[in-house]
Amino acid sequence: MTEQEFDELLSKYADVVVRIGLNLRKGQRLILRGILDDAPLMRKVTESAYKAGAIYVEPIYTDERITRIRFEHADPESLTEVPNWMLTRYEEYYERMDAELAIQSSDPELLTGINPELIAKSRKATAQKFEPLRKYENTTNWCVVATASPAWARKVFPTVPAKEAVEKLWAEIFASCRIYEPDPVAAWQAHVEKLKKYRDYLNAQKFSALHYRSPNTDLTIGLPEKHLWQGAQAEFKNGITGIPNLPTEEVFTTPHKDKVDGVVSSTMPLNYGGVLIEDFNLTFENGRIVKVTAKKGEETLKKLIETDENAARLGECALVPNSSPISQRKILFYNTLFDENASCHIAIGNSYRDTIIGGEDMTEEEFAAAGGNKSLVHTDFMIGSDQLDIDGIKADGSRVAVFRAGEWQ
Ligand code: ZN
Ligand code: ZN
Repeated sequence: MTEQEFDELLSKYADVVVRIGLNLRKGQRLILRGILDDAPLMRKVTESAYKAGAIYVEPIYTDERITRIRFEHADPESLTEVPNWMLTRYEEYYERMDAELAIQSSDPELLTGINPELIAKSRKATAQKFEPLRKYENTTNWCVVATASPAWARKVFPTVPAKEAVEKLWAEIFASCRIYEPDPVAAWQAHVEKLKKYRDYLNAQKFSALHYRSPNTDLTIGLPEKHLWQGAQAEFKNGITGIPNLPTEEVFTTPHKDKVDGVVSSTMPLNYGGVLIEDFNLTFENGRIVKVTAKKGEETLKKLIETDENAARLGECALVPNSSPISQRKILFYNTLFDENASCHIAIGNSYRDTIIGGEDMTEEEFAAAGGNKSLVHTDFMIGSDQLDIDGIKADGSRVAVFRAGEWQ
């Protein structure tokens, strides 16, 4: 790939992000979050956003090395320190219904070797500080995308030279995001129509539970009576329809927080805040995780589940066929945005309000009574494979094959 070819692809990618992902409207402000390595995409997105009529674009950069330096050298007691203005800045953006883009290209090994207790402590303090922002969920058009940062590329392609690894990862991102298509925007529109079809089918079935079976999994996920399947597009409260994740291949809803039983086994490692958790099994009783085992990262996983009262319950179950373009690439991305679109997954923690009918207008008590889960965390992990069967169970006990050998039936 020449520099000029790359530049053109990056421009197309930025256009898809702004026009399809965010669906940015004239007169909106845009907040961009990323790491230093994301700068080239940040600039392209800024250009595309101003061309689309943005009135102000604000980039917010994180220096990942500085994040690590803090864990290595700061007084452990000070790791709960979070400035107030970080909260008020976001409040201002959400109150004004501005657009928000987050770029996820972090180093999967960023915090390797750091005491998990310190990471959990710091993350919890940040989550608590930002808790007031929960009421703005889906208020504004938001989107999450990625760039091929050198540290991430090194993790995905450890055996190839650094420069080549970055190029290879970019090629994966462009392919997964349909950027090589002659008209990427039109390709996305067609893809969204297909996902809507599955979503509408599941909503029409009104299953009361899903039964997952594979060699190490036998899990029944009860669904709230008023559960709603979502997929591809989201309608935000500011009236804009966009695509919150690029790429996206999933349709998802919320499990009933008290009705998950059985054992589930992860099929891909989970990168949680720079720590890899591998080969883990979770056992559920009445919605709660009662047993955790992991070959790697068990301590971090246990800490995650102990974050708060409901971090031991589920907040999402998502269906992705094994034949999805990302799954077909047969690469472990060590990045949830990509890996979750390669495979069926579930998430520990918070439920999305829009996965229960009327959920966005419910009080916390009403949402919990309807089966929704409230937690400071929402962490996805992969359970899909070409050996996964899923049955939908209706209220009368009858069963419908939804997935066989990892594919839609
Ligand atoms: Zn998901
Ligand atoms: Zn999720």
